Amino acid sequence: MATKRDQQVIAIEEHYFDPELTQHFSSADEVPSGLRQRLEDVGELRLREMDEAGIDIQVLSHAPPGTQRLDPDSASLLAAGVNDRLASIIKTNPQRFAGLASLPTPDAAAAADELERCVNQLGFKGAIIHGLTNGTFFDDKKFWPIFERAASLDVPIYIHPALPHPAVVDTYYQDYLTDYPGLETAAWGFTVETATAAIRIVLSGVLEKYPGIKIILGHLGEGIPFLLWRIDHALSRPGNKSLSFRDVFSEHFYVTTSGNFSDPALLCSIQEMGVDRILFSVDWPFVANDPGVEWMESLHLNNEDKTKILSENAKRILHIS
Ligand code: MN
Repeated sequence: MATKRDQQVIAIEEHYFDPELTQHFSSADEVPSGLRQRLEDVGELRLREMDEAGIDIQVLSHAPPGTQRLDPDSASLLAAGVNDRLASIIKTNPQRFAGLASLPTPDAAAAADELERCVNQLGFKGAIIHGLTNGTFFDDKKFWPIFERAASLDVPIYIHPALPHPAVVDTYYQDYLTDYPGLETAAWGFTVETATAAIRIVLSGVLEKYPGIKIILGHLGEGIPFLLWRIDHALSRPGNKSLSFRDVFSEHFYVTTSGNFSDPALLCSIQEMGVDRILFSVDWPFVANDPGVEWMESLHLNNEDKTKILSENAKRILHIS
């Protein structure tokens, strides 16, 4: 494997744009031209920036909002094409790329079938879901067939942010968006939305029903490792149904370093979840590769744990050989 570093590096939340799917995106989903150029590049520029940073493998996933905001029929049709094209991209560089499926969640039954097709026929490593599906959180019972299929296929589902619900944007963020558009996205809005999605998945009971489910969160767990004690404690107070939030969360969830290269946040995640549940990722091209790899190199962490984070955990959980 060509890398300038002595460690293999697998990055698992790395995005691209499918030219057909992005035609269905709204103006709110527009990205600056430098980002668009990188998202649309699945060859020379991407590989050069991987090489420069020493990243061996990118696990590719579509950027938000993916296939979550389409009508059911278009979602099924488009997702199949998106995944077929991603499979072709991976075939051009099978040593450097792997893939997470885009699922047509607006049609949950089709999404479960598409996940199976992507894993069994296209060799994908799991799936990515971006935010709400047409306003509905992913823990809704109608989506449980997708959880069931993921568990039986033994592949993870990556719960990735997308723009918050419009009512949330209006109430929580609108006043500051002219001066600080990042507030509704990566600075805060994404975190609140995705942490809420994750907590709701634990509360829904779906993880007890299908015990093999693995859920991945980016950004070192969207704040949940930092708040795990308090969430667990508060949900154990009188008046709440019996649940060990900590046990269920710790059994099913994994977190990645995407866009959160913070020593204290990583230390907290290791303390709460254990190093076997932490996977390296960058969030390219929204975040540059170099700072992520350089941060890992500079960490005061033993080599064995560093290797787990940089590659071994991804190989085990995503079945990358
Ligand atoms: Mn991302």
